[in-house]
Amino acid sequence: MWPWLTACAVLDREPPEIEVQGPETAVRQSATFRIRAHDDRPGLARLVMTVDGARSEPLPLPDGELEWVLGLEALEDGLHTITFTAIDSAWMGNAASVKASIQVDTTPPTLRLPPGGLLGAQGKTLAVWIKAGEPLVEPTVTFTDRTLPLFPVDGAHRALLGIEIRQEPGQLPLTIRARDRLGNEARLETMVDILPTPFEIGGTIKLSKEQLEARRDEPAKEKMRSERDAAYAHDDPRQRWTGPMGLPVAYGTKTSPFGKYRTYSDGTRSYHSGMDLAKRDGARISAAAPGVVVLAHSQAIFGNVVILDHGHGVTTSYNHLRAIAVEVGDEVEQGQRIGSMGSTGQSTGPHLHWGLVVGRVAVDPDQWLAEDFSTSPFP
Ligand SMILES: [Zn+2]
Repeated sequence: MWPWLTACAVLDREPPEIEVQGPETAVRQSATFRIRAHDDRPGLARLVMTVDGARSEPLPLPDGELEWVLGLEALEDGLHTITFTAIDSAWMGNAASVKASIQVDTTPPTLRLPPGGLLGAQGKTLAVWIKAGEPLVEPTVTFTDRTLPLFPVDGAHRALLGIEIRQEPGQLPLTIRARDRLGNEARLETMVDILPTPFEIGGTIKLSKEQLEARRDEPAKEKMRSERDAAYAHDDPRQRWTGPMGLPVAYGTKTSPFGKYRTYSDGTRSYHSGMDLAKRDGARISAAAPGVVVLAHSQAIFGNVVILDHGHGVTTSYNHLRAIAVEVGDEVEQGQRIGSMGSTGQSTGPHLHWGLVVGRVAVDPDQWLAEDFSTSPFP
């Protein structure tokens, strides 16, 4: 609210006294004014409000202080002048006026997408960028069945989407919603083109009797899934990475790429949800990017696991470890040792299953070894 504005224009002897307090920031639906007016002798006769010097209306006479709510439906966006005039009941009608300015804003924020359209691919990360003409409150993007926040990055707003490996190629709708500070809502609808990704097909994974038994342990698998889902659900607004990720195994061998469609010895088939990197048993496993440890214990199927949260809905997982070298809550730097290579859980030899989850969807880590998704595409 403004400080009280007091009329100082003396139009004649003993005009009324009037003070007005109004909104200090822009307004959308209504503006509330507090008006104090009085006249010692002979007393107030009228109180009048004028909008932009044209539209006048009488106000009730204040008994001490009047709170007046002005509806703004008829006013266009922009600056308006509201004049309050108190007139006494002297024969000459002594008057005193106070002018107040209000800024009306009923326009939703304008949201812009970068030129060129949105192009994604099965199993890949897609950065969705928007730019707005004013600060945004809680911007979100809705794609398939998920709604994710957009965070301020590089002078614009960005959300990182994971495209499901099984997502049918074609066009899919995407909706962005945002409000300005006054609550004016904007909505932008667009389409995303999803391209097919040629995943490798083949390979049979022979499992031991114990491993096959473990595969049938539904309660343990359910516990594993819910723990991992909780770890992936982090959407810390602090982006911890700068630059592309680094391979968590130095001089290892990529033994199975992300997305490979494989058959297990119990007949089940599935897409590979991460990248396998092999080296000797006990080899150093390092953090692919700076992050905070959100899971560090043994799980069904995945054995000893570390999951790192990098912020903005990006997490990496390190699975089948021989030993875990960090604890939940630890902050780690890129390249810091977080464990050693092993073959715990459902594994057929020492290797790291390196997983990357973006916006709660498993995607190909390979893309992140070259890109950091942090440079705004706006000129
Ligand atoms: Zn794997």
